Amino acid sequence: MDFAIPDHLAEFRETVRRFTESELIPHEDYVEEHDGLPEEVERRIRERAVAIGLNAMGMPEEVGGAGLDVLGQVLVTEELFRALGGVAEAVPSAPGVLLACDEEQRERFLVPCVRGDLQWCFALTEPDTGSDAAGIRTRAELADGTWTINGRKRFISHGDSADFAIVFALTHPDREQDRITAFLVEKGTPGFSVGQLHKTMGHRGYRQAELVFDDCAVPEGNVLGEPGRGFAIARGGLSSGRIMTAARCLGPMARLIDDGLEWAKQRVQFGRPIADYQAIQFMLADCATDLHAARLMTYNAAWAADRGEAPKTVHAKASAAKLFASEALGRVADRVLQIFGGTGYMNETYVERAYRNARIERIWEGTSEIQRIIIARGLLKRGMFS
Ligand SMILES: Cc1cc2nc3c(=O)[nH]c(=O)nc-3n(C[C@H](O)[C@H](O)[C@H](O)COP(=O)(O)OP(=O)(O)OC[C@H]3O[C@@H](n4cnc5c(N)ncnc54)[C@H](O)[C@@H]3O)c2cc1C
Repeated sequence: MDFAIPDHLAEFRETVRRFTESELIPHEDYVEEHDGLPEEVERRIRERAVAIGLNAMGMPEEVGGAGLDVLGQVLVTEELFRALGGVAEAVPSAPGVLLACDEEQRERFLVPCVRGDLQWCFALTEPDTGSDAAGIRTRAELADGTWTINGRKRFISHGDSADFAIVFALTHPDREQDRITAFLVEKGTPGFSVGQLHKTMGHRGYRQAELVFDDCAVPEGNVLGEPGRGFAIARGGLSSGRIMTAARCLGPMARLIDDGLEWAKQRVQFGRPIADYQAIQFMLADCATDLHAARLMTYNAAWAADRGEAPKTVHAKASAAKLFASEALGRVADRVLQIFGGTGYMNETYVERAYRNARIERIWEGTSEIQRIIIARGLLKRGMFS
């Protein structure tokens, strides 16, 4: 058993850490206050990220990505998300589903995303269907070479700012399977508009939007992959999406522990640093244990994916890592806030912001309950994954 991080990844991780400290963290106060970054800052982050090969890190090199394996992506994600999500999200990315692009779509959509020239959003969730994503009601019908989409999407991250949306719609309702198709719908397409924008508990700097499709006409050339295979395309990225969500939880946990340690050592009450009190030490010890366990699970799930372990095993490990890391982050944020006392409740502290941001990790990319269902189903069918 070898737990060593390969040298080249350890070096790259250091580069990303420096990037996070110099290019991302300094903009956190601005994002919290203004709910977004100035355009020139976003552009600079994009340019710097591209310059050090941080853009679209999981994408193959032939489309301009960094071609990192899953473990490499986990290490980079962990470091990037030491910064608040609203700033870290400015680093260009391209979702794995775009690998289903045909040649022409690659040039129009995938490559510009990889370069940071186009922004995308992923539009699956609807007002009536969240966890039960296969039950979507947005419909698309084909006539004379044009698909017409009608329906609504909800809670779509970056939905208001994206240049195009990857939209999932019901196209073959009579089939048992292969009922859903994925479409690439560009901003400005007649019949496609942004509806309600939500104010959220955390993650200042990027918004969730409602997307409205009202007789929205999309050419056949904008179908992503085969008609009817949209859900299969979306499911293809589930494991890596969950592993990356787990990785997003590791960065904040590590930074919270650093902050908690520093605060406990310098805050004096009853004549002694509070770090001298066992009540505080126990909270710190529990935080460290949570982070260590979450790291091991996340790295192991990534390593299993890279080794090509059976997809169902990777799936179970990814769900377990996402479940554990997201819940561990909640516990760590709560304890560190307690260590900070009243100061931790103040918006100018990282701990207050991290506490609010942490809550969503248990909801998106499949709620904790859905992860438990997946893990339990696998256990009942195949026994414990190793
Ligand atoms: C900030 C934010 C950003 C988001 N970004 C995107 C995005 O970019 N694109 C996108 O498509 N979606 C996005 N979503 C949607 C997100 O994926 C859904 O919110 C999530 O899947 C849960 O769906 P729901 O909110 O409809 O909850 P529901 O599915 O209605 O669930 C409500 C509760 O019931 C539980 N539950 C549901 N089914 C079961 C069951 N079978 N057994 C036990 N318990 C169950 C859930 O775990 C939950 O506790 C975002 C959501 C948020 C809040």
